[in-house]
Amino acid sequence: MSDKESTSPWEDIQKQVQDALRSGHAPPGMGAMRPEATAGESPPPADDSNDDESEETLRRIREFNLKPREIRDHLNRFVIQQEAAKKVLSVAICDHYNHVRQCLEDPDLIERDYQKQNIILLGPTGVGKTYIMRCIARLIGVPMVKADATKFSETGYVGYDAEDLVRDLVKLAGGNHELAQYGIIYIDEIDKIASTEKSGGRDVSGRGVQVNLLKLMEDAEVNLFSPTDMMAQMQAVMEMTRGGKARKKTINTRHILFIVSGAFDELGESVKKRMLANQIGFSTTARDDDRDPAEFLHHVDTADFINYGYEPEFIGRLPVRVACEHLRSEDLARILTSSEGSLLEQYRLDFKGYGVDFKITPEAIQEVANRAHLEKTGARGLMTVLERIFRDFKFELPSTAVKQFEVTTETVAEPQSTLKQLLLDNQQGQREVLKSEIEQFAERFGNEHGIRLAFSDDACDVLIDASVEQDKSIRALCEERFRDFQHGLKIIARNSGQESFRIEGAMARNPDKELSRLVVESFQNHADKDGDEPEPQPGPPR
Ligand code: ADP
Repeated sequence: MSDKESTSPWEDIQKQVQDALRSGHAPPGMGAMRPEATAGESPPPADDSNDDESEETLRRIREFNLKPREIRDHLNRFVIQQEAAKKVLSVAICDHYNHVRQCLEDPDLIERDYQKQNIILLGPTGVGKTYIMRCIARLIGVPMVKADATKFSETGYVGYDAEDLVRDLVKLAGGNHELAQYGIIYIDEIDKIASTEKSGGRDVSGRGVQVNLLKLMEDAEVNLFSPTDMMAQMQAVMEMTRGGKARKKTINTRHILFIVSGAFDELGESVKKRMLANQIGFSTTARDDDRDPAEFLHHVDTADFINYGYEPEFIGRLPVRVACEHLRSEDLARILTSSEGSLLEQYRLDFKGYGVDFKITPEAIQEVANRAHLEKTGARGLMTVLERIFRDFKFELPSTAVKQFEVTTETVAEPQSTLKQLLLDNQQGQREVLKSEIEQFAERFGNEHGIRLAFSDDACDVLIDASVEQDKSIRALCEERFRDFQHGLKIIARNSGQESFRIEGAMARNPDKELSRLVVESFQNHADKDGDEPEPQPGPPR
């Protein structure tokens, strides 16, 4: 066994680090660490990677002057309904960033007690809870990371740690620690970490995760290097050994805004029970009993949260509470027609990428919304329904003559048969499109091999029929049929001086056989030509 084979991975890494220290360069994978938006895989990059964009955002935060109404109006461009949430969040965001600005103006303020406006968002899935916060984060320009509370385990377990979220913020902020300190951390499925202890069971993780989050939500210093991230630790050692500029090792969470959210179905149920019980003897009707528990989330109070299984300290750090509503099918229709970030616009852009345009009738929009509503996943249902409608259109149309189509209720109900009909109606134009694809193949072939191909009408017909019959694109078919064709053609070219070749129907049908025939012919012709020339006569010695 050679020395190299017996080296352990650790020794290998050690050697790389030593080499890098000697050369002053980081080993591969440890150099220029540009942050990724995804969860903690590599350490945050150095402080000095601030770019102009981050600086501009920081300037805006230092001079924060947005008013709640302005934020609400911005949200109205994208978010349909959720009026209460939009209002409450606009106020909370303004309060938060005003406080940040004031602390920057007067650092003494940091020392004073301030109840941070951390937010708890309640309500069903897919109704815009995350979307509202994303729109706000984009408006202000601060980084926002999102994670599910169910991903966290108590510290000590292997897994995602709540502190990793803070490190992710730094990465998202391009390594700009200051900007990361004003970022937003969004934790979904918070209803899944309610402690079960109160119902007699042993709480394995809920309380522990709450305690960890609690520390972060207050005023914690988070180490920028995860103790489980070996690469980060090594980079830190390298920097220390190199004696370079001392890098900040922690980030403070004082000004990070925390949003937690969850569906809280059962909580809605218990608030409903409490409220209806309090009404007994007054006006409880059968209609009240039928009411959706989610409607009662507006009335949730601290005691409800504690009974649900939250530590009082934890819920106390979440003073802003707001419930989002179910979206009705008319809201879903409005999302399609009025929201600037509507999925329909995305589809429009996708098709436009292939030069295809579509119109959708108002009835079809309503039908999409109705079907999405049945999915019971809020606006996410729109994605499911639209994907089902457009899936085959997106696959087929880019290779066809169709440049425009209309989405009707029939398309929504029967996308496949509507597409089939559309393709039939465009059959004539379709042959022209396929013909131009054959020309494109010839052009690519010419550029690659310096040999010009010209396909006869007959050859085009053969190829187009085969493409339709085999359900294969012209490109794939030609590449398969004329694979390695250049070798044979180059031999012919050498023998005959011919540089362009006409592909007839027979050759398109049976390329290898025809090419062999032509190659043999070219040798024969070449030999004949040589035979015609007079034999060189031996001349007298010079
Ligand atoms: P959740 O409430 O579960 O956090 P999201 O906010 O992530 O749901 O919604 C998923 C997607 O649905 C969003 O990215 C957005 O495109 C769309 N959407 C959801 N609610 C609305 C809404 N009220 N108005 C406009 N679009 C919405």
